[in-house]
Amino acid sequence: MSNLVEGATGSWEVVIGLEIHAQVSSQSKLFSGAATAFGAEPNSQVSLVDAGMPGMLPVINEMAIEQAVRSGLGLNAKINNYSVFDRKNYFYADLPQGYQISQYLQPIVGEGVVTVELEDGATAHIGIERLHLEQDAGKLIHDQHPRKSHVDLNRSGIALMEIVSKPDMRSAAEAGAYVRKVRAILRYLGTCDGNMEQGSMRADVNVSVRRPGEDLGTRAEIKNVNSIRFMQQAIHYETTRQIDVIEGGGTVDQETRQFDAPTGTTRPMRTKEEAHDYRYFPDPDLLPLEFSDDFVAQIRATLPELPDAKKRRYMDELGLSAHDAAVLVSDRDIALFYEAVSEGRDAKIVANWVQGDLFGQLAKAELDIADSPVSANQLGGLIDLISDQTISGKIAKDVLEIMFESGQDAAAIVAEKGLKQVTDSGAIEGEVDKVIAANPDKVAEFQSGKDKILGWFVGQIMQATKGKANPKMVNQLLRDKLKG
Ligand code: ADP
Ligand code: MG
Repeated sequence: MSNLVEGATGSWEVVIGLEIHAQVSSQSKLFSGAATAFGAEPNSQVSLVDAGMPGMLPVINEMAIEQAVRSGLGLNAKINNYSVFDRKNYFYADLPQGYQISQYLQPIVGEGVVTVELEDGATAHIGIERLHLEQDAGKLIHDQHPRKSHVDLNRSGIALMEIVSKPDMRSAAEAGAYVRKVRAILRYLGTCDGNMEQGSMRADVNVSVRRPGEDLGTRAEIKNVNSIRFMQQAIHYETTRQIDVIEGGGTVDQETRQFDAPTGTTRPMRTKEEAHDYRYFPDPDLLPLEFSDDFVAQIRATLPELPDAKKRRYMDELGLSAHDAAVLVSDRDIALFYEAVSEGRDAKIVANWVQGDLFGQLAKAELDIADSPVSANQLGGLIDLISDQTISGKIAKDVLEIMFESGQDAAAIVAEKGLKQVTDSGAIEGEVDKVIAANPDKVAEFQSGKDKILGWFVGQIMQATKGKANPKMVNQLLRDKLKG
């Protein structure tokens, strides 16, 4: 177990459980028809229900139910055909209703499991405790006026899925891998866009420490962390803080804390509230949610191939390594791009091009694959030019760079810049003869057994042909002629 952390008095184990809030991809809110578009004018997407007007009745959005079931299936979880919406009562200025409609004892989705891959190729199985549906609250804005706060209710009533993990993670790396995997699954399913910068996915991070083998320690809960990097910083900070507290003879308080990005630290917000503080009770405005096995089966029938199944297929059918397969399925857009290029082409060669040169160019330009200036079709065209020996793999790398900048097809660039590979053996032979004639000393070296000098000869000919000579033919001709 390399996950242990050394304190002053021995080793500690970190225990992490996450509550991920994922915004349901849906045009309208959980209990009203108001729109959910990101970035709209404040308070322009608020119905009377979302504003908490007295006497308004919530009406369940069936799309949101389907999305929750879809997500549950994707998380290998038990779907509960009977679930209940409860009121979670609390006061806050961003919550006009005075309660949040959520699910408490009977959530729509029960236990499941998510498999994550770690850097070293190991896998870990992280348990899902439950997934429930709830409404989001509004947003307070404090920086618009010296003495007043503003409230934007556009988020009020938006459908969220809260995905609660078991306390199964043992390091910041595992927690990061878990969030990435959950996000990938939801994106494959189309149930949440996973955009953490826009707040459509965020997590409450529960952290405790214990001596290996002991019972769970007291947890601190860090609220609303909206990036994987922040989450990992918060876990590192909490780990050290809690170990210091305990080793200093104190006890960790069960409390809610806030992450401070500029300093990478956490600070207390409030002591942890208990469920009874919220006086949960079934919302009298909403009937329990009931659906048939048939409804679930219909949704199951529309699920796409998910990352784990895809990875297995890439390995079994396409012969990719576990590592390559894992990288290519890690994101739905990448997988779709890869599949479009590899259709009818050598799967491994395409995998190398996508992960190597294309990813390199995308990273340099800070672009996602969805915004790649080189389309799947165009990358396929480039790879075809290598397979039919029009250009060498080396020239192809330069061509890709030009494609990236100009958006042109590979064939057009090759024609325009005269990059076509020289496969005319007469032409190559001429160059080979010239180099051999001009360098008798090097020829002698080769003949005395120094094969390494062959590379030098190849280099000379490539230089003379501006990299366009077919490398295989150059090698072959050189070997034949140098044997003397
Ligand atoms: P609450 O809403 O009170 O935070 P939940 O049950 O919704 O309660 O979530 C609790 C989260 O805390 C879960 O993700 C769970 O795995 C995690 N957790 C529970 N106990 C511990 C612990 N001792 N250390 C770390 N995480 C824990
Ligand atoms: Mg919590």
